[in-house]
Amino acid sequence: MRAAELRERIARHRKLYYVDNDPEISDSEYDALERELLAIERSHPELIAADSPTMRVGGEPADGFATFAHSTPLLSLDNAYGEQELRDWEARLRRTLEDEQPTYAVEPKVDGLSISLHYRDGVLERAVTRGDGRVGEDVTGNVRTIRSIPLRLIESVRYLEVRGEVFLARSAFEELNRRRAETNESLYANPRNAAAGFVRLKDPRVTAKRPLDCFFYELAADEDGLPERHVAGLDRIRDLGLKTNPLNDKCESLDEILAYVEHLRELRDSLDYEIDGVVVKVDELAVRREAGATSKFPRWAVALKYPAQQATTRVSEIRVQVGRTGKLTPVAELEPVALAGTTVSRATLHNEDEVERKDVRVGDTVLIEKAGEIIPQVVKVVETKPRGKRRFEMPTRCPVCDSAADREEGEVARYCTNVACPAQQREKLLHFASRGGMDVQGLGEALVEQLTAKELVRDVADLYGLELDSLSELERMGVKSAENLLAQLEESKTRPLNRLLFGLGVRHVGDRAAQQLAQSFASLDALAEAEAEALEELDEIGPKTAAAVRLFFDQPANRELIRRLVEAGLRPQPVEPPAPVAEDSPFAGKTVVVTGTLPGRSRAEAKKLVEALGGRVAGSVSKKTDLVVAGEAAGSKLDKARELGIRVVDADEFESLV
Ligand SMILES: [Zn+2]
Repeated sequence: MRAAELRERIARHRKLYYVDNDPEISDSEYDALERELLAIERSHPELIAADSPTMRVGGEPADGFATFAHSTPLLSLDNAYGEQELRDWEARLRRTLEDEQPTYAVEPKVDGLSISLHYRDGVLERAVTRGDGRVGEDVTGNVRTIRSIPLRLIESVRYLEVRGEVFLARSAFEELNRRRAETNESLYANPRNAAAGFVRLKDPRVTAKRPLDCFFYELAADEDGLPERHVAGLDRIRDLGLKTNPLNDKCESLDEILAYVEHLRELRDSLDYEIDGVVVKVDELAVRREAGATSKFPRWAVALKYPAQQATTRVSEIRVQVGRTGKLTPVAELEPVALAGTTVSRATLHNEDEVERKDVRVGDTVLIEKAGEIIPQVVKVVETKPRGKRRFEMPTRCPVCDSAADREEGEVARYCTNVACPAQQREKLLHFASRGGMDVQGLGEALVEQLTAKELVRDVADLYGLELDSLSELERMGVKSAENLLAQLEESKTRPLNRLLFGLGVRHVGDRAAQQLAQSFASLDALAEAEAEALEELDEIGPKTAAAVRLFFDQPANRELIRRLVEAGLRPQPVEPPAPVAEDSPFAGKTVVVTGTLPGRSRAEAKKLVEALGGRVAGSVSKKTDLVVAGEAAGSKLDKARELGIRVVDADEFESLV
């Protein structure tokens, strides 16, 4: 039967793609398989199965999650901080085992959310969070949307339970926060919190849009019997199409474990997911049974934790900043402290509710933390130190202009209601002049402060009316710098349309949305007249953004601002839609592997370039590879390419091809 055959082929190719990182067919060929299955299922609804790839996002929003009791508890692991504690753990274990030397399985401790998956007859039946270890929440609908998790295993095993860690890649986390920052939404604290939140979202259709991923680390139950070794269990689940961490390894002694820990510490910053340590487990199941468990932890496993990137310091002041949309953000001023290689003197308190919840007061000693690339945040107040006396109260008036600062229903933030608020004006000017916007160099904080204080400039259109005389009289501003600034402003008049759109700071319009709007509308006038429905048809524009764009152009004050900008001589350049890939591109339709170091180009850049030229980038070399780009210090991939007789180009040749 064609449907069954398609399902099998889809299961096999998704394993090659997600688990083995070695696809045999192109993405479009894979999509074609899914589409064919979808077509069959449309005309024969009785053939729709729970494991159909077309059923990934089938769930409806839920009010809450059903609870589910784990068959065997997901125990937490004993922690070891530092080498000595690891040595102590190993010595204790060896005593229990009467000096027998076990083999150890070692793996990176991925910082995410633990889940347990149940497969019946090879089909994903249930996904449950760790919960309290004994009872978790049934999050099947959300977990089904994670692309790297198979809905059907390669074989129809009768019953299987596997455990893994759902995580959000660092790059995905940063991208998500970057976009949220651009549109003034609150940021996720760290990848772990974000991943945990996404898995527990009420609407699977929203979870489906989050790029979650998962590594599986334990075969917990198998009706056909568990292998006697943990690593054999891992091999089995990988063969079945479940992703395991390629950095997993085996160690025969404590010294080997310590070497692995050191190796991983060096790799840590280059991984695209966060790890907070190394998990060490006994490999032999018989030895595990012999070692047993304490009341809390198994004796046969330990989590060696890296020191957290945290520090304690004192809050000297809590200030409230006003952003360009008028949003009030409380910020803790700190006594400077060293943290993860930098000196930190400020940490965000996010919003009113957060300060309230953590009850941070001036004078408190607080624990601060740096997660990912974002600014440090206050984790909690250290209760053992003397506490500050007065609770912090969020002002109900703007700290800059003293206008009312309102908090609307459903919002976590207060906003200054004064459109002429000097703080908002300053932030708008800085955003307009920023690198992603009109890129007016020299128009920094100090200068903007002076320009607004002296009332030379109120809004962005006023910038283009600045004159040499008044400018050069400002503090720290000679004739030369004044001339430079005017030249910069002159140059900015012909920046591409997307930069102007971004610079104007339309709510929810980040650089991607601005780019697409500029590609789709030849001029500001055309965009100003576009209906919300026409805007929503663009990929990067959702209903929220479309409404915000409409609202922006409907406001008479904004229309007037644009009229004045045009009058001042602004002629934003139209942006061409992306050109279709040329037929004669050397990469068109080719599968390309990039390996080694390319001078003057990161590997990510090189891959993007290949894709822009119509090539498909693969992670490893196989018979299907057409071309290998080998930079300096290319290793095993280059050897394999030579072995298979695949065409190899070096860095110079690559540059001439692109
Ligand atoms: Zn204000």
